[in-house]
Amino acid sequence: MIIILKDKHSKEQIDELYQELQQYDVDIKPIEGTQTTIWGLIGDVTQIDVSRIHSKEVVYDIKRVSEPYKAANRKFHPDDTIVEVMNEKIGGEHFKVIAGPCSIETEEQVIEVAKAVKKSGAKFLRGGAFKPRTSPYAFQGLHAEGIKLLLKAQKITGLPIVTEIMSLAHLDLFADVDIIQVGARNMQNFELLKELGHSKKPILLKRGLANTLEEFLMSAEYIMSGGNENVILCERGIRTFETMTRNTLDLSAVPLLKHYSHLPVVVDPSHATGIPWLVEPLSQAAIAAGADGLMIEVHNNPKKALCDGAQSLTPTQFDEVMKKITAQAQFCNKTL
Ligand code: PEP
Ligand code: MN
Repeated sequence: MIIILKDKHSKEQIDELYQELQQYDVDIKPIEGTQTTIWGLIGDVTQIDVSRIHSKEVVYDIKRVSEPYKAANRKFHPDDTIVEVMNEKIGGEHFKVIAGPCSIETEEQVIEVAKAVKKSGAKFLRGGAFKPRTSPYAFQGLHAEGIKLLLKAQKITGLPIVTEIMSLAHLDLFADVDIIQVGARNMQNFELLKELGHSKKPILLKRGLANTLEEFLMSAEYIMSGGNENVILCERGIRTFETMTRNTLDLSAVPLLKHYSHLPVVVDPSHATGIPWLVEPLSQAAIAAGADGLMIEVHNNPKKALCDGAQSLTPTQFDEVMKKITAQAQFCNKTL
């Protein structure tokens, strides 16, 4: 980190800044030019509160030369993190597909979809019991009953399950859930992230609708700094001016996240596009970009779905897509 000092400054102001920086585990290397003085800070600068330092009278500007996240940073953990759940691995050379309905609706629905996606090669079953809906009048999910039905499908098919948590008050209901999903709308619910950091359960963290990749990695850092290193990142599209798709799939996020972080990256082409026929080409593109997995919405009767039916694949469509995904993943030397 580099602190640029104002040209005119008093000794008191310099002393005040120096004192402030003493509390951090950093070395200060001053460089005095004819016009400008800069201080280079060397050491663990992740703890430094940049806005606090910026507010000091003597500070003209501050430039970061390293990332503000540490646990999620590939610099300190060069090998890919492989998250393992019930003998299924995601990350490194391991590529996995997570599939299932947007929301759990009935026992028949979730079990039928679970069996179908398993047959087609999905290794994880997804389904929401707590649904973050834009309208309070829309279907909100079956809550505890939904998790019960999902666990039933887990038992019958043996597929590990992924489901979204929206409130810490519900954490006890997630005791037997294999991967806890933090949805886009909760990516910066810091209290939720901190608490999940104390859990050992893998967390599927989705990127917020309008969050930068650095903010995304800082949210992963919240979970990891609490001791939970089992974080899977999920790119699910971001808000742009484009209206032909529900969101815009930011595919550059995949190689960028994998460059800056060691965490596995999964792509959700269903929420990214909102259009079923775009799922296949964007899945192919995601694999080519280096994704470690995909999350795809599948419903046994999309027309009657209580949530996101318009973007869901039928089991037959999913089966077709899986054939192409499998070939592409194998071509990219991934193990399914
Ligand atoms: C979901 O996965 O069902 C979901 C609500 O996704 P997102 O948080 O990405 O909108
Ligand atoms: Mn959905």
